[in-house]
Amino acid sequence: MKQYEMDSRVIIDPGPAIDGKTCPICGQVDAADWLQSRDRLHGRRREYELRRCRACNIVWLAQPPAPDEMQEHYTAAYHKLISGAGDDPSRWNRRRADLLRFKQSGSLLDLGCSSGSFLASMRSDSWSLYGVEMSANEAATAEARTAGKIVVGTVLDAPFPAESFDAITCFDVLEHLYEPRRIMAKVSYWLKPGGVFYVQVPNIDSAEARVFGTYWHGLELPRHLFHYSPASLNFLAESAGLRPLLLETRRNPAVGVSLRYVWDDVFGAVGIRRTPVAYRADGGITWRAARKVVRMTILRGLLVMAPLVGGGEAIHAIFRKDIVNSGVAS
Ligand SMILES: [Zn+2]
Repeated sequence: MKQYEMDSRVIIDPGPAIDGKTCPICGQVDAADWLQSRDRLHGRRREYELRRCRACNIVWLAQPPAPDEMQEHYTAAYHKLISGAGDDPSRWNRRRADLLRFKQSGSLLDLGCSSGSFLASMRSDSWSLYGVEMSANEAATAEARTAGKIVVGTVLDAPFPAESFDAITCFDVLEHLYEPRRIMAKVSYWLKPGGVFYVQVPNIDSAEARVFGTYWHGLELPRHLFHYSPASLNFLAESAGLRPLLLETRRNPAVGVSLRYVWDDVFGAVGIRRTPVAYRADGGITWRAARKVVRMTILRGLLVMAPLVGGGEAIHAIFRKDIVNSGVAS
């Protein structure tokens, strides 16, 4: 058991789940086997096992690849797929507006900032921009685009002093990180009292995740190490002294990818091996037409069901660091 001294409170980190049955978030023992699936994006055969905590509801990859093996799961095809999404500036409009509701100026740190598309959307005289990014190439691009300071490396190794930031953001990144308790403790440590943390992760309790099960594209095995629900994300944040200002789920329909995984297995069962999604040229008029039909039928059904079975597939949450417990004000 490790202890982290943080401001006036002490956080107990359960440490890595060595036996695979101890929850890495809340320390509850006797976690349930929950689901087995594969890296369907790359069409790989290895099975991975997910566990679910009975207490805090977190789902995690029981035996994740070691950090130095992870590189082989982030292929060039994968990077190409995700890099296309970030460069549409309108993608950030709503997130920027939500952040500005709670913080209008100051210093902003984006965790896993990639090529800096979100930071670039925040560029103005009101903000000093910072990022952390593993890839030196992406970091250089981000620095050029944002005129900010981008640290190359992991979140846990980033050398920022305590209470450096008015706002920290983390979009589509937290689910990729080992040791979420230490990450959240760092976020809390880096925030000024009253500073805000805006995080977005896939929702393991979403309607789509429930409908598609092992075929849900949001599993992203083994790149996603932790799978959050609104409850487990809130628990994690509160355990680091952060309080929710906004906690909601939104639609982020990529249902087409989940459906492709289903069809890959249907064809596979009759001996037809299809090109894995990561390596497939997107589109084709037949596929686009099929997707439209899906949007009009299945998706519409999901939208109706969503409030009953867990909501949209993206969790958007903004947390604030307590002023009272920071030791600065009381
Ligand atoms: Zn737990």
